[in-house]
Amino acid sequence: MRTRTEELQDIAGKSFDVCVIGGGATGAGCALDSQLRGLHTVMLDAGDFAGATSSAATKIIHGGVRYLEEAIKDVDPKEYHVVVRALHERVRMLNNAPHLTRQLEFIVPSYHWLNIAYLDIGLKIYDWLAGSGRISPSKYLSREETLERMPELKRQGLIGSVEYADGQFDDARYDLALVQTFSNAGGSALNYVRVTDLARDSAGRLAGVSVTDQLTGEKFSVQAKVFVNATGPFADSIRNLATPSLPRRMRLSKGAHILLPLDVFPTRDAMLIPKTDDGRVLFAVPWNGRLLVGTTEQEVAPEDELFVSQKDIDFMLGQLNKYLEHPVLPSQIVSGFAGARPLVSSGEAESTQKVARDDVIEVDPSSGLISIMGGKWTTHRAMAEDTINAVQKALGVPITDSPTRSHVLYGSEGFSGDLWKKLMDAHAITRETSQHLAAKFGTAAWKVLELTQEDRNLAEPILAGSPAIQAEVVYSVRKELAATLEDVIARRLGIQFYSWRDAIHAAPVVATFMAEELHWSSDQAKSEVVTYVKKVNKLLEHAGLEPETSPGARVERASAV
Ligand SMILES: Cc1cc2nc3c(=O)[nH]c(=O)nc-3n(C[C@H](O)[C@H](O)[C@H](O)COP(=O)(O)OP(=O)(O)OC[C@H]3O[C@@H](n4cnc5c(N)ncnc54)[C@H](O)[C@@H]3O)c2cc1C
Repeated sequence: MRTRTEELQDIAGKSFDVCVIGGGATGAGCALDSQLRGLHTVMLDAGDFAGATSSAATKIIHGGVRYLEEAIKDVDPKEYHVVVRALHERVRMLNNAPHLTRQLEFIVPSYHWLNIAYLDIGLKIYDWLAGSGRISPSKYLSREETLERMPELKRQGLIGSVEYADGQFDDARYDLALVQTFSNAGGSALNYVRVTDLARDSAGRLAGVSVTDQLTGEKFSVQAKVFVNATGPFADSIRNLATPSLPRRMRLSKGAHILLPLDVFPTRDAMLIPKTDDGRVLFAVPWNGRLLVGTTEQEVAPEDELFVSQKDIDFMLGQLNKYLEHPVLPSQIVSGFAGARPLVSSGEAESTQKVARDDVIEVDPSSGLISIMGGKWTTHRAMAEDTINAVQKALGVPITDSPTRSHVLYGSEGFSGDLWKKLMDAHAITRETSQHLAAKFGTAAWKVLELTQEDRNLAEPILAGSPAIQAEVVYSVRKELAATLEDVIARRLGIQFYSWRDAIHAAPVVATFMAEELHWSSDQAKSEVVTYVKKVNKLLEHAGLEPETSPGARVERASAV
């Protein structure tokens, strides 16, 4: 990927076939599909790529066991369609980016015989619906087999469990891989550029967007023949910029997650708690060395600040602890995150739990704006395929096949499961670092490590004992458009998801390298650290945890750059 300055030169004031607004899963998926079909495409995001909902998922690639149950209970073909489509897309996501995905076994523990029979039948239907997209058949596990796989499961009354397979992925990095693949295919992508207005031509059709660079305040315009609104939770604001009279479609539902040390529930498999007190499911999933627990459901507005509250924690631990031999305490939480599900509603009355997870493509007859709303991460590619079909229709060109069905993403070309061993053999790095690099960057890890050949110091860890190395910061800025500390520490390296406290201690070190790369003054470097530390400490406070003492000495080091 090119630098921010190069991207800006290529975008500001220029004309494209297609302009995609939003660089989350939906926007990045649309941009890639469009560019690969030969349409000259630009993608603009007001924040960082995956900076909104697309890095706040439970990180499961799934058809949705709960949605299947609802489809059957409600005899709802729409819900059924959502599940079947997602089950087929599951395999494509796994195949197109093996370095960021893996098959994961889910265990549903049961304390009643009737539940076992119910689950077994339901999951057999799930297998059957997957058809050729089936990854591994579901099966019954005895009490002993269940406890062998999940030794910390509550023993009293446990009868057994049902096991089934779905997928797991790194959502933030998957989004970045989509953006990089798009860029390599000749597309132009930029983060931190907000679309603030839309311009129409003499016939009333959209012809351009006004954009403000969020980092410099500079304003510019971009022209295109077709505009795709892929702004997820914010879709109504772009729809109303195009045509103020369009009725609202989005219903936002906040979902929170917490992360715990994996030794509170040591397992390689995920647990699905089939019925929470509010009638949903809860997952406890091993992810990046932690136990990821989620999620909640609460209606919110687009402008609401999203964070994990003590109420969210009480709810999630309350549900989880019913299934654990040794209950987890709130003080054991190491990190967390929350996001807003962008649900599309046809009416005001239904609860967000009841709104189907399907997506909707709307072509505004007045302005020509194409909005893609709703959906799931798992179906982002199929949503993009349908959207670009609509784009081709709007352009009056033949609808061509989508090349993304089997297009391998950046970092997965030539990837094999033993990549980490090859990295370790070729470079003097630890096993943990080579596994971390292979999982985050795939074959692009070679490029990260090339930097350590120029400067041996870049092979040093960012924090003592952490697998992430300093070269990753330099690479993220030079090749992945990282512009803020959070871009690097959260989405590109994953440290903030692993531990809020580690993230705070990593900030000054990361700022040192970012300052060098981005020519920050010492005052700016210091202020970036202070702002970031404050933000993460606020997350700790919202969760009812003690704030971390500021890493003052290291701030000095950053400010001295
Ligand atoms: C709690 C939770 C758990 C989930 N778990 C899963 C899961 O396990 N599996 C799964 O398949 N799905 C899951 N999902 C759903 C999935 O995460 C979302 O469907 C998906 O991320 C939505 O992506 P998006 O691109 O539409 O929206 P977003 O990721 O929110 O992207 C929208 C982008 O638009 C940008 N934008 C907004 N306004 C403007 C503007 N004016 N100019 C330019 N850019 C703008 C924003 O900056 C943002 O980056 C989950 C969702 C939540 C909330």
